[in-house]
Formats: sequence, structure tokens, C-alpha cells
Amino acid sequence: MAISYANHIPPKGYGVLLSCSVSLEDKEKNEPFKKGHKMKTYQEWQALRATIKVPYNAYINGQFVAAQSGDTFDCINPTDESLLAKVASCDSADVDLAVAAAKQTFKSGIWSELAPGKRKRILHKWADLLEQHQDELALIDTLDMGKSISEMVGIDVPDSLDCLRWSAECIDKLYGEIAPTNPQNLALISREPLGVVAIITPWNYPLMMVMWKIAPALAAGNSVILKPSEKSPLSALRIAQLATEAGMPDGVFNVLPGFGHTAGKALALHYDIGTLAFTGSSRVAGMLMQYAGQSNMKRVWLEAGGKSPCLVFDDCKDIKAAAKGAATAIFTNQGEVCIACSRLYLHSSIKEEFMVELLKAAREYVPADPLDPATKMGPMVDKAQFDNVSGFIQSAIDDGATLELGGVPEYQQGKGFFMNPTIFSDADHSMRFVQEEIFGPVLAVMTFETEDEAIELANDSKYGLGAAIWTNDLSRAHRVSRKLESGMVWVNTWGDGDTTVPFGGVKASGNGRDKSWHALEKYTEIKNTWIRL
Ligand code: NAD
Repeated sequence: MAISYANHIPPKGYGVLLSCSVSLEDKEKNEPFKKGHKMKTYQEWQALRATIKVPYNAYINGQFVAAQSGDTFDCINPTDESLLAKVASCDSADVDLAVAAAKQTFKSGIWSELAPGKRKRILHKWADLLEQHQDELALIDTLDMGKSISEMVGIDVPDSLDCLRWSAECIDKLYGEIAPTNPQNLALISREPLGVVAIITPWNYPLMMVMWKIAPALAAGNSVILKPSEKSPLSALRIAQLATEAGMPDGVFNVLPGFGHTAGKALALHYDIGTLAFTGSSRVAGMLMQYAGQSNMKRVWLEAGGKSPCLVFDDCKDIKAAAKGAATAIFTNQGEVCIACSRLYLHSSIKEEFMVELLKAAREYVPADPLDPATKMGPMVDKAQFDNVSGFIQSAIDDGATLELGGVPEYQQGKGFFMNPTIFSDADHSMRFVQEEIFGPVLAVMTFETEDEAIELANDSKYGLGAAIWTNDLSRAHRVSRKLESGMVWVNTWGDGDTTVPFGGVKASGNGRDKSWHALEKYTEIKNTWIRL
């Protein structure tokens, strides 16, 4: 009898292997973390832009192919509204083709049963290739969705590489368990790959969100079909091509660009997909659960929206640092961040001093060409997002909040979807812009008197993704952290993390976790084999 231990998973809390610590300080410096990799100048990025060719077809079974319908959609650069590519618009016919290829590949065992050490070597080779192409990948995402090139070079690319290498390193360190049965039996608890895994991702961190999911899914031996967002599909297509170059067998990693309701829905309803992992809005997350129920009850892992609170207590000693932190927490990536702290709660006694520092910090976020390494804030991803965020700003004005900075932006055709940081004070929980996720650079400032009130306000949200606390009282930090209904809590910082810690939320923010061993658990199945001796 052959028993494979290839996909066993170690106990929780197994040691740290690799990490890339992304700290607030690093973000503020906007410097690449990888020492030795030089940031290009604006002119050099422009020169590189003139040389690269962006992929535009679907990637199925190791080949670029047009959508079977021949349909395409326009991929627009939000900085100047120019056309980057006409990208294959996949639908259920392409989904069927990709699922068949992925299923056949999985069954063949060419990847799912490959010795873990060999799988690991291919993933490491892939990571090396991605690193060789890191400037190209950074550039593609900046052109595609408008995020600053300094963030791409400093955060998205190194974080994605670390995630891939960390996941690759896990493969040959995954052990199973032997249950403490009576001596006449032997019970093995093993972890096995799932089969064909569908992954659906959003546009705000195109490469990073993709990597957080595909790296552990592929490492665990699954075949993957990725549907990247129609707003930023290009880097996913490029890395698929590089996976083949690294030696990943055809059909293991497939990429289907397309709209949610065509490609995404067809994947979510497909009977040959046993697991679906999603990052995106809570609205679509809910629909995916329904699609799973309507089809084969596939397992659905959801990393969804957020409306994170930031609490600043009166014992916070460094108001300036906290104000800078609060600005970073909402204006990073134009506010297009799931964990953006869009609700800021200040103890009433520090409000005045805090607002002066907050406005100073916010004014440093000047929207500009994201290809300039000095730029901290690029344009909104597209006109729809620009209009949506503008609508929230107007609603805050209509609801009576006090506008402290920014306001409803003016759109000039052909000049990009730029928007200034916007701050409102005197906000309250009856206002729509305080309750709903905006996904843009808009901050609501409110006050509180007591710790209990701060916790109650923070928890008064359907979301529960991240939360930040600024305090110099260690007991308070622990006390408040325990009571916050949130998957992640940062104390005296915001957004920090590395591959070793899980990322995800509670309530309408979802049920899954990316990164760390917990991500690998999502992409493996537990099997109990009971043997009578
Ligand atoms: P979205 O939900 O509109 O789209 C996400 C993906 O789902 C896209 O690929 C889209 O094409 C697809 N999709 C849309 N409709 C679908 C359908 N009916 N069936 C199947 N797939 C469908 O989200 P978005 O606008 O791309 O991204 C922004 C959202 O993502 C925000 O809510 C943000 O908070 C969230 N987000 C969450 C995390 C996290 O880790 N929790 C991280 C990043 C972004």
C-alpha cells in the first residue's frame, strides 16, 4: 500500500521561514525594501514603458488564446485614459475549456503528485524569474490600475515574491498526523490537494492579491484557474507565461480575464470546481455563496470588504506620529485598500491638536503621475470608481459633515481620474459615508469620550477586517484589541505584516485568511485513513 505524505500540514504555529516586513515607516519612506534593487527615475520608467509588450489573451493549458467568442474589453490606463490593450473577454465556453485542461492535468499527477522537493524547485525558479522581471511587473500594474510605482517596487512586488518563496518552502515541510488510537489500528490524518481551484481577485493590488492566493494553492499541488479583475488583468497574464518558462506543467495555472458575471459566475457555478477562493467586495462575496449553493456546494473562501476604524486615545504620546499614521491608513493607494481606516475616532480632548497634524500629513498626498517615484498617490482605477467616490463625498456634504480638506473632484476628460485626499469632521454613524465602504481617499473623523464608547463605535459596522489603536497604555491596547470585532488589529501602526501572519476578516469582511500556514489549510483537504493492523 502506498501512502503519500506529500501534502501533510504541520501543527499550527510552526516556525517562520522567510519574511518581508512591510512597516509603516518603510511605507512612509516609499523606498524599495529589497536592498540592492535601484529605483528607476521617471525617465527610465518611461523608457521601459516604450519597450514592454503587455499580454492580452487568456492563458489556458500553457498557451495564450483568444476568447472563443472573439470578444475583447478595453484595458485603460487611468493616468491618461489611453488604451493599454484589448483583452480577451472570457465567458462560460472558455471556462469549460480551462476547467477541462486543469482537471486533466490534476488527474495526470504531473503536478499534484510531483515530489514536493521538485514542485518547490519549480516555484523557486518561477520566483527568480519574477524577480528578474520585477520592474516590468511593477510597471504593468502601475499602468493598469494607477497605483504609485514606488509602492509597486517597495511593497507589491517584494511582498508577492516573499509570499511565493514562503509558500514554496512550506511544501516539503508539511507533515501529517497519526491519531492516538488503540494499538490494533493505525489512523493517518493527511492533507491532500483539492483538485481544480478557482480564484477570483480584485484590482487594487493586482499582483499581490493574485499571489497571496495562487502561491499556496499551487504549492499544495492544486491546478488553478485564476480570474483577475477586468480592471487590472495584465500582470496575472504575464506571470502565467513566466510560470511556464519556470517549468510549471501546462494546465496547472490558467488565467481567464473577463467580467465577473461572465467568467467569474461561470467558474462559481461550475461542477468540476471544488473550491473557490475570492477577494473582492462583500456584495459579490455573498453572490458567490449563493452560486455555490445552486451548484455543487463548492467550498467558498471569502476575503471581502472593509470599513476599518482607527482609535486614538488621550494617552497617545506622539500625536504627530499617530496623525501621520492615520493619514497613511486612508490615503495609501488612493484609499483603494480593503483595510483602509476610513473611520477615525479621536478622544475629544486631543481632537484640536490632532486635526492640525492630520491635515498637515494629508496635504503630503498630492495626486500625480504614478510613474514618478516621488508620487504618493495616483488616479482612481477608472471613471466608475471616480464617480462612485465622488458620490460618497457629495453624500457626506448633504448629510451635514464638515468638509476639512478636498471635496468633490472635477473630472477633465483625457486627464485621468485624479482625486484629492478628502477629510470630513463632525461625522456620525447615521451618515451613509460612515457606514459603507467607499474605497477611495475619503476620511470621516468622529470623537469619543470613553474606552467603552470607542469600542462600541468601532464595532458598529457590518464589516470586521482591520482596526488600528493608538495608545501608550499596554493594558488598554490588549483590552481594546480583544473587544474589537476585527480579523486584524494594529497597535501604534497600521497595515504592517508579512507572509508569516494571516490576513482576513470577520462579519461581512469574509471567512478566509490569506498568507501564513492558515492559507495552506484553505487549499488542502483533510483525509483520515483508518487501518486495522
Ligand atoms: P468586486 O467584488 O467588484 O470584484 C472582485 C472580482 O469578482 C473581480 O474579478 C470581478 O470581476 C469578480 N466578479 C464581479 N461580479 C462577479 C460575479 N457575479 N460572479 C463572480 N465574480 C464576479 O471587487 P473589486 O471592485 O474588484 O475590489 C474591491 C473590493 O475588494 C473592495 O470591497 C475591497 O475591500 C475588497 N478587497 C478585499 C481584500 C481582503 O483581503 N479582504 C483585499 C483587497 C480588496
